[in-house]
Amino acid sequence: MFNFAPDAYLAAALEGTIQEANNAAGALLLVPQDVLVGQPLASFVIEEERQSFLEQLARLRSGELEKLEFWVITIQRPDHSLVPVSITIGIVRDPQGGRAGLRCLLRDMTERKRLEEERAQLLIREHLARTETEAAQRLKFLAEVSTALAGSLDYASIPDILALLSVPYFADYCFVYLTDEAMAVRHFAAAHAEPERADLVKSLRFHLMSAEVPSAAAELLRKGKPEIFSDISENWLETFACGLENLEILQKLDFRSALVVPLIARGVPLGAITFMASESRPPYSYNDLSLADELARRSALFLENARLYHQVIVERDKAEKASQAKEEFVAILSHELRTPLMTILGWARILARQPQIVGDDVLSEGVQSLEHNAQNIARLVEDCLDIARITEGKFQLQKEIIDISDIANAAFESTREFAYRKGLKFGTQFPPSSLHVTGDKTRLEQVLLNLLTNAVKYTESEGEVSISIRRVDEECEIAVTDTGIGIEPEFMERIFEPFGQGTRNWFESNSGLGLGLAIARDIVQMHGGRIWAESPGPSCGSTFRLRLPLAAGPVQRKTIPSQQRPVAAGFKPLKILFVEDSKDILNLLRIELEELGYEVFTATDGERGLEIAKQEVPDVIVSDIKMPKFDGYELIRQLRRVPHLANIPAIALSGFGMSKDVEKALQAGYNAHLCKPVELSELISIVQKLTSS
Ligand code: ADP
Repeated sequence: MFNFAPDAYLAAALEGTIQEANNAAGALLLVPQDVLVGQPLASFVIEEERQSFLEQLARLRSGELEKLEFWVITIQRPDHSLVPVSITIGIVRDPQGGRAGLRCLLRDMTERKRLEEERAQLLIREHLARTETEAAQRLKFLAEVSTALAGSLDYASIPDILALLSVPYFADYCFVYLTDEAMAVRHFAAAHAEPERADLVKSLRFHLMSAEVPSAAAELLRKGKPEIFSDISENWLETFACGLENLEILQKLDFRSALVVPLIARGVPLGAITFMASESRPPYSYNDLSLADELARRSALFLENARLYHQVIVERDKAEKASQAKEEFVAILSHELRTPLMTILGWARILARQPQIVGDDVLSEGVQSLEHNAQNIARLVEDCLDIARITEGKFQLQKEIIDISDIANAAFESTREFAYRKGLKFGTQFPPSSLHVTGDKTRLEQVLLNLLTNAVKYTESEGEVSISIRRVDEECEIAVTDTGIGIEPEFMERIFEPFGQGTRNWFESNSGLGLGLAIARDIVQMHGGRIWAESPGPSCGSTFRLRLPLAAGPVQRKTIPSQQRPVAAGFKPLKILFVEDSKDILNLLRIELEELGYEVFTATDGERGLEIAKQEVPDVIVSDIKMPKFDGYELIRQLRRVPHLANIPAIALSGFGMSKDVEKALQAGYNAHLCKPVELSELISIVQKLTSS
């Protein structure tokens, strides 16, 4: 039985020499049974463990140890292979009870060890897989919250998103509050994993109850660090509840642990998130704390973004309102200035033709000065409107092919008298062949007129002013040169800015508002060109140069309609209905138009205008827009509904000159829009155009 037992048995002397071995022992140690006999048992134990094995044998021998059980040692076999074995050694006693020898049982642990190792590996793998899944879930949670927060730029709704998405994954109950600078709760949101308890949670009243943050939370906000409360005591709940009513609710909610994280952006505390876990989930750990901290960090960033966004929107609205107010102010101011200007200019023109005035030098100079100054004011009003249009991006160009000498000539002619009165030498230098550009004739003429007027204005009498044109490569250069006050280098650029003057002392200078050159630069740039000033220095004169790209390809010029006053023979008198609430303008235009042979009907409001139109059926209607009660828009709408008046050409004559005003008039039913103060020749030319077809 000893020999055929499945386990390895050995009998040994007390000091450890093998005396007997069974089959299994021979097989385990890879040594024939008879060879085993006589060998020390310790010689099979690997060197590293041998000493401690011998110590155990000594303890058995001395009686200190009665039995050595399941002691795991590693055996080295003759072929150098190692086998883990569990060894159990008992004492063999002689008939007198003395220690006579040892009886050893060896069990091969290879398989067991392998299984144990496999189990350990399995456990590690399982643990890793669990950790990975948890990490993936955490990432998913963070990503979900981030995506939801990214979609909301509304500061107040961020607490709701946070609370709702945190349950049930990260908490059974979550509440979020946001505070203001004084740490008073301004927004509060709460959510519970169990729908039936959600109402209970929502009945918590942190912000309504008082403007103070719960003291525990305030403390935490001050510290600015997240905190875990792994065992929620009654005491803690009391400090946290912020009132009896809340305390009762929190007690009913029954929590085991809590995790509170502050929301801090750029070092400023914005509020806090509180996560709470019931008995059903493990208490919050440091692992959870890092996730909560990350969530709070991201949320604080989104809160900060939402706050900034809100601020930007408020600022933008303010700016929009301010810009609207500015636009309205400019429109109203120009309207209010234009109407009286039109009267002054008109009467100056009429007076200038009266024989009493023509024959009196003083009177005629007075009337001329009146007209000249009124024109200056009119130009200023136009400049203000132009700057407003440019700022609003509503400055539009009507482009066509232009012979640049034509507009230079026109500007020259308009300034000639001014230069003559100042006693200046005034000349032109134009190339023999025409140079063409694509541009807005009126606007380019405005630029040249401004340059020439400035040149005359800033040059003392007996000086010289000239305008020249030349071709430079693919560009056309126009230069206005004077021998006037010149420009200091530091002002060379500033004078092109709105309200920029070329002087340090405006009061002692001749400078005006400083808008003309700013408008000129914008107009030139809108034509793809550039403009600049050159001057050798103060009192040495200046040259303003502008370059425009030449029109490409062969030029087909439009025939320019004659701008002459239509008073010539053959002119067809027409019936004009003139509607205007300013009696001054009404009288003035009536006199001027009647002088030209028109039959003029007048009305001071839209309603009366409509009545006269129905009775007299005029050939053309000219109407103001802003009139009390029945305005120009209403008049044209009603006119267009009367069949026999529906097609009568109508011209709006208004003090509002922004492009939106022109569009509005045309949309209402007018055929053309003119801005006050209007040149009589311009009005007549449009009247003729509209009635000739
Ligand atoms: P304004 O003449 O109404 O002030 P501008 O925009 O036309 O406005 O001109 C801006 C400034 O440039 C002027 O105030 C003046 O100081 C300077 N300036 C313009 N033209 C000349 C010139 N030909 N010679 C000297 N200075 C000039």
